[in-house]
Amino acid sequence: MPATGWVKLRENCFVNPFSIEFFYGGTPPSDGPVSPPPEPPLRLRAVQAVVTGRCNLMCTYCSARIAGGFKGDMDSATLDAVLSHSHPESLLLVTGGEPLLHPAAVRTLIRGWSGQSVLFTNGSLLDRGTAQFLKEYGTALVVSMDGFESEHNRFRGDSWKSAAAALDLARETGLPAGISLVTGPHNARSLPESLYGLLERFAPASFGVNIQHYTPGAFSPITAEEYSRIILGAYRFSLETGVFVDQVARRLLPIVTGHFRHRDCAAQGGKIVFRPDGSVSSCVNTAGIEEWGNRNPVNNPFCVACPALGVCGGGCTWDGIHLTPTGCGPDPRNCVWTLDLLRAVSKTVEERLPDSVVRPSRGFLTSLFENLCRRAGSPLAQSLGHGEEDR
Ligand code: SF4
Ligand code: SF4
Repeated sequence: MPATGWVKLRENCFVNPFSIEFFYGGTPPSDGPVSPPPEPPLRLRAVQAVVTGRCNLMCTYCSARIAGGFKGDMDSATLDAVLSHSHPESLLLVTGGEPLLHPAAVRTLIRGWSGQSVLFTNGSLLDRGTAQFLKEYGTALVVSMDGFESEHNRFRGDSWKSAAAALDLARETGLPAGISLVTGPHNARSLPESLYGLLERFAPASFGVNIQHYTPGAFSPITAEEYSRIILGAYRFSLETGVFVDQVARRLLPIVTGHFRHRDCAAQGGKIVFRPDGSVSSCVNTAGIEEWGNRNPVNNPFCVACPALGVCGGGCTWDGIHLTPTGCGPDPRNCVWTLDLLRAVSKTVEERLPDSVVRPSRGFLTSLFENLCRRAGSPLAQSLGHGEEDR
């Protein structure tokens, strides 16, 4: 890293990854921080309750199905243990299997939780009473939908119509809903264009455009370049429509706040997962609590000179461990799309910058991007269980 802290991002554009600033010109400024700020203390921000290991779909790429890791239904002692972590500033993520196969657990958790909550579902079992219950408690819904019917049904059984019915029901009842997609060979060709069609058809409040996580025995991801193309399209989609896209928003937030982003992975100490049998883990992919607290880019020699150091957070720790020969990470796919996205964002800033300005102020950056990465009051306008802070 040069002594000034500024790093070349592209021709005539420098970034200071510590203050998260851009500079447009031939010679970078001589001021600005030259090292990252101290890491904020780890804080439990998200509690995930896998209320059942059962599912009525068993999709091809599902890690829970392949690992056979989740068994049975969560009992009342474990529900109490989950609720002992209830806190007004913590996010509850209710998942499965298919959580609505254990509706009593879903209702118990949501009734007893004092912070925001989100229910992740395949949508097939959502009825009007449940939708109204979720709305009453301010819980948001996230429905898994990988695109339109032909793409979705390739990996997710014959379930598109029921997912669509759930999104329609959410819209009818005024329940905030998002769509979570997993990218893969089944839908890559139609993305990102299908985001526009899905928005028109269902008007979701948010999208998650997820890269496929490493799954032993069933890992068929698209290439890093293909995923990056989709994310750049999702960024343009977010700019044009104002709709929150989780993966994009996570990288935009530090540009808006000026706060260095240390961690992308909540399993580095920001999340606890309760499994149906009462055991706990750091992530649904791991069997127990991992000591991953130092696995962030600031502590990784591979990352220290990276222009994206302040916005990245390092991606998924599990993927970094399994997709690098040394197991030290980061996931190389994360580097491709994060750097491509940062370059695209820097171009947007440049195009909109008044002629005489070479170093955009935080206020200017905020005016461009704040509505894409944080909105008060909605669990669907923040990253769901990733990152360390939404300051
Ligand atoms: S980002 Fe972290 S919490 Fe999410 S899947 Fe990867 S290891 Fe697990
Ligand atoms: S993970 Fe990759 S993109 Fe992120 S800081 Fe490290 S080198 Fe940069």
